Order: sequence, then C-alpha cells, then structure tokens
Amino acid sequence: MISNPVSDLFKYTSIEQYHTDLLNSQTTCVEAVQFYLHSIQEKKQLNAFVQVYAEEALKKANELDSSRKKGDSLAKLHGVVVAIKDVLSYKDHPLTASSNILRNFKAVYNATAVERLLLEGAIIIGHTNCDEFAMGSTNENSAYGKVLNALDETKVPGGSSGGSAVAVQADCCMVSLGSDTGGSVRQPADFCGIIGLKPTYGRISRYGLIAYASSFDQIGIFGKTIPDVALLLDVISGADEFDTTSSTKPIEKYAASLPSKTKPLRIAYFKEALESESLDIEISTKIKGLIESLRQDGHHVEAVDFEYFDYIVPTYYILTTAEASSNLSRFDGIRYGFRNVDKKADLTEFYCQTRSSGFGWEVKKRIMLGSFVLSAGYYDAYFTKAQQVRQLLVKKTNLIFSQFDAIILPNSPDTAFPFGEKSKDPIAMYLADIFTVFCNLTGLPGISLPLFWHSNGIPFGVQVMTYRFSELSLLQLSSQWMQLYKEDRIRRTK
Ligand code: GLN
Repeated sequence: MISNPVSDLFKYTSIEQYHTDLLNSQTTCVEAVQFYLHSIQEKKQLNAFVQVYAEEALKKANELDSSRKKGDSLAKLHGVVVAIKDVLSYKDHPLTASSNILRNFKAVYNATAVERLLLEGAIIIGHTNCDEFAMGSTNENSAYGKVLNALDETKVPGGSSGGSAVAVQADCCMVSLGSDTGGSVRQPADFCGIIGLKPTYGRISRYGLIAYASSFDQIGIFGKTIPDVALLLDVISGADEFDTTSSTKPIEKYAASLPSKTKPLRIAYFKEALESESLDIEISTKIKGLIESLRQDGHHVEAVDFEYFDYIVPTYYILTTAEASSNLSRFDGIRYGFRNVDKKADLTEFYCQTRSSGFGWEVKKRIMLGSFVLSAGYYDAYFTKAQQVRQLLVKKTNLIFSQFDAIILPNSPDTAFPFGEKSKDPIAMYLADIFTVFCNLTGLPGISLPLFWHSNGIPFGVQVMTYRFSELSLLQLSSQWMQLYKEDRIRRTK
C-alpha cells in the first residue's frame, strides 16, 4: 500500500467537525483536497471516477483557504469535497452518462443542484462512473467498465450510481450526488454500507440531470452521516424556474432540526416483503429484529397488506422504458457528441449506425421495449394499464399514510453479489428492484440506512419511507435510528 502523506494531517468525520477544524486552523481545504486526490489515486482500481478535476479542485481549495484567512464567514458547504454522478451537468466539463454516444461531449451549463453546491462553496472533485444512462443495478453496464465494491472487490457496488456510492464508501470524497429512478441511490448505498437518500419527486430540481424516465428521476445524496446528508439537502432542494416539476413547497431547515427526539411513531411494514421467498433469510431476520426493537422502544409497528408486489416491477419497467425511448431519441448523432457513419449513408442509416454503435446493449434493449409498449397496437394493453396500476399504488400509499408515519422495507433481496451473477439473467436483475421501485412509482422520499452486517461480511441496510415532502421527519427518525440500532462493526468479524 502506498502511504498517504496527508492522511495523518487530515481526518474526516462530518462536515460540521471539518468546519470546526478549519476555523481552529487544524486543517485546510487544500489538505482535504490533497487527501482525497491521493485516496482516488490509491484506489484507482475501484474505477469509481470517470473524471477527476485535480487542478481546479486544488485551486478552489486555495481560494477558500485565503478567503477564510481574510475572515470571511463560511458558506454552508465551504470546502466540502463532493463527487457527482456522470449524469449531472457541470459547465465546461465532460458529461457522458457513461455512454459512448456522449463521448467527448461537454456540458454547456450547470445543473441547478450543481450550481447550488458551487454557490455554497463546495469543491467538485470529479464525475463518477455509473450504469449507462442510469440503467442498471450493478454498474456492469458502463462504457468505462465496472466499478468495484471497496469492501470486496469481487462484488458489485450496486447501481446505477455505483461510482458515487463507492467514492463515499472508499473515502474518495466527503459526500456525493447520484440519481434515483428506481433505486439507484438507495440500492448502491445498501450494497456499500453508507446512507443513500432519495427525496420526494420534485424536491430537487432535475434541470441539468440527463433524463432517463422524467416522471421518476430524482437526484439523491450519499453520505456517511445523517447531518451531512441533511445539509446537502438544505442546499440543493427547492423550487427552480428551470424545472416546472420542481415543487414550490417551502423547504424545511433539515440540518438545523437535527438531532431531535422523535415521538412514538406509527410504522407500517409489508408482510409480503419480509416473508418473500426471494428475500435473503438473514436480511429478513435482521429487519424483523429491528421491528421488535422499535416496538420495545414504544413505536407502534404493524403489518399492512400489500397486494401489489407482483405488479410493481412490470409497471416500473413498462413506464420507465416508455419514457426512456422518448428521452433518448435526442441522441441521434446530429445534436450531440458521437457519430459513426459511412459517407454514403442516408439520414435513416445515419441515425441507425450512430445509435447502434453509440448505445450499449442494455440501453438499446430498453429503447426497443419502450417503443414497443408505446406502439399503436399495444399502447392500451401496456402503457395505459401500467399508468392505472401507478394510480392504484398512489391511492394505496395515501391510505397507508392516513394511518402511519413511515413504512419499512428491505432495499434489496440480497446483499452485494459477485460480478456476473445476475447479468446473465435480466429478469432476475429486474426483479431485484422489487423493493426500491415502489418509492419512485409513488414519488415518496426514501432512505437507505446502513444498520446491519451480514454473516457473509457485507453490510446492508433498511429502507424507510415517509409521506411526500416529509424529508424532515425522515431525517429525524434516521438520525435517531442510526444512533440506536446500528450494529457494531466489530460483529462482522465474529
Ligand atoms: N435498477 C433500476 C433500473 O435499472 C434503477 C435505475 C435507477 O434508479 N436509475 O432501472
């Protein structure tokens, strides 16, 4: 192992502690950036980053250090080192959605979330690897190759935001952004043993986020502590004139309202989920154990019937592929980046050749599936039907939240699994999204909390959801649960 010359000088625990250390002159932003650059270099084999912005990160760190010395007060994210998924626009920087079709493309504007990070003094250290156009659950679908799970390099990190999850897991940045259309923040967080928050649909502007399925997509946050995640949410959420689907509901003071004692909660869980044959028995046992602890601590936890489990994955894949087939039609070789044509090709051949060689197999499969479900003879049978199921789910959700404050679910049927295990069986891969897609179909906020260790040595979490736009109570209960129910890491070795 290469020793890290700055590791003795720099220790990171939370943004709050980092800011205290900066103000007490115990560290500097330059030291922080040097530490993370070294860490990225040292763990290059993980393949978490597709671009590292070393020089400009150091330059910005220097500027911040000087401004602090002049006595300027600290912006909310002063010197916070952030990595962003390769689907978020960062002006004048490469943006490829980890696809060959966007190779050599540079963003021409900042995504709203990125702009807000920069305005609060964050340092963007790089773009992270992901499944092509955020389609996948393992990061095996990237044009840049797979990302490795830092805890066991033979295992997947989850996806599609695998690079962003590993960047936080492996201490290559403080916090990171991903996107979650059907679980792509919560599931990799689960596989990597960190926190992953998907806010309510519309809480964070999607302006500058490359669209996969627009009525599902939401930017999410990875971190190691709830206060860090809450602070990021404070900064990047809220209305945006560039995204009409962003909510005008006022944002709450998430970070300032932590920690807080939560009153006894009414919590629902789905028996069908915990008794499901596909669920790893240890995951089921540990979540049942959590339910027992919650009861002992005065919460009311009750099983509710959920009769729609068989429908949610098909509904998700019909609707998201339909939206993707439309969203991805813009990548035609004329307006963006890559083109691949022989000189004699007519326009149709031009599109065909460019799209056939520019997109990877999973993306092409989804465009074809989406075009099929939207085609004249099948529209009502598939697309309309799936919209109706989505409405049913929303109704069911409203009913549940008229009686409960939160819902508990697993994140995934398994812990992180070996590369190749599911990529040969696409149906098994899609079915593994069963517990995460519910949140996106209904627009709810959901979080993955890394509470447990499996006897196979891999961490996993529990997924918690609250009602739309109740991120504050979600974060408050999360901070409490992280203190009360997190298994001791030492148990892993037993
Ligand atoms: N695994 C899901 C899919 O492949 C989730 C993707 C996502 O959330 N971006 O569609």
